[in-house]
Amino acid sequence: MKIAARLDSISPSATMAMKIKAEELAKQGKDVLSFAVGEPDFPTPEYICEAARQAIAEGFTKYTAASGITELKEAVVAAIERDLGVSYEPGEVLISNGAKHSLMNVFQTLVEPGDEVIVFAPYWVTYPDQIRFCGGKVKVIMTRGEDDFQPDLEEVRAAVTDRTVALLVNTPCNPSGAVYSREVIEGLAALAIERDLVIISDEIYKHIIFDGAEHVSPATLGDEAKEQTLIIDGVAKSYSMTGWRIGWLVGDRDFVAAAGRLQSQGTSCPNTIAQRAAVEALNGPQDSVEQMRRQFEARRDLVMDRIADIPGVRCSRPRGAFYVFPDVTEHYGRTLGGAKVEDSTAMAEYLLTEGLISTVPGAAFGADDYVRLSFACSTEEIEEGLARLKRTLA
Ligand SMILES: *Cc1c(COP(=O)(O)O)cnc(C)c1O
Repeated sequence: MKIAARLDSISPSATMAMKIKAEELAKQGKDVLSFAVGEPDFPTPEYICEAARQAIAEGFTKYTAASGITELKEAVVAAIERDLGVSYEPGEVLISNGAKHSLMNVFQTLVEPGDEVIVFAPYWVTYPDQIRFCGGKVKVIMTRGEDDFQPDLEEVRAAVTDRTVALLVNTPCNPSGAVYSREVIEGLAALAIERDLVIISDEIYKHIIFDGAEHVSPATLGDEAKEQTLIIDGVAKSYSMTGWRIGWLVGDRDFVAAAGRLQSQGTSCPNTIAQRAAVEALNGPQDSVEQMRRQFEARRDLVMDRIADIPGVRCSRPRGAFYVFPDVTEHYGRTLGGAKVEDSTAMAEYLLTEGLISTVPGAAFGADDYVRLSFACSTEEIEEGLARLKRTLA
């Protein structure tokens, strides 16, 4: 059947490919440990599930307004005020079926053929595909483990052209765990104001932050910076609600309204029942967020401790999210498991088939020197998995 050429820009998710290979090994009876997952391992807190059951019991199961229910927009506004200290109005909020959907809405509303979007590598796998699908060009700026994955502001400035429309910032970062410094965010915001660029700020991990590090949103850096910023966030990571599919876009009223028109013809409205659950997540007690954060921090400490003990593996200390992104290049060029390992894809394959641990090759994130390990798993699994990693690389 005919398939439109624009679909050529969409590749199947690399994380999914690894998942399938790991499942095949598991089916053969092999005891594979997965460090490839991109979601919290905790159950959704009970009080949130209860709100969804209540919505169903009340018959709150029909279409809502295309842009989401006012109650949820108000809850988003209140949460942003509480967390960031900046004020928005419900009319500046668009609720969507997950933050990934919010991002797709943003690129479709913003990007025209030939427009350039600056993206920092390592980047979340979804960004380049979405941008290219909308006809945009991805301008990649590398960040490095030696610099704790902080972007170099001079490099960013030099990358801006007349066709640049946006800077895409993801802090805390998936996959590196980097939390961009205030200085970096200030520099990016100043550049965005000077060159009239949109800053798309993906803040989905803002509650999962360690060592008392500071989450700086560009929206907090004064009125001008706020005007240039589109905040992307959602309930998936903070409240362990990945399957509920609720995310949001917050920013310029006209932009948000235009994205809302697109959404109304694309999907009518976000899931009604999940919207009620998200209201409860944002307005209810926040202790579960802090409990999960603390567990992630303890696991991060454990992972870093074990990695320090593995020769030839260097790892910048993640300050947020739930991933480590070690540099494994010292092992490139070795013959491992009968084949020469020269890149992250071969390394991830070797670790899976010989070590029975699944990881995601850094190449998927635009950084081939690394592999990503998620620590959204139990401490026992971390202990066993990192022991396997050490043995497999010995
Ligand atoms: C998980 C994730 C999202 C998407 O969240 P959903 O609300 O589940 O769509 C967005 N950005 C990054 C960087 C993520 O890791």
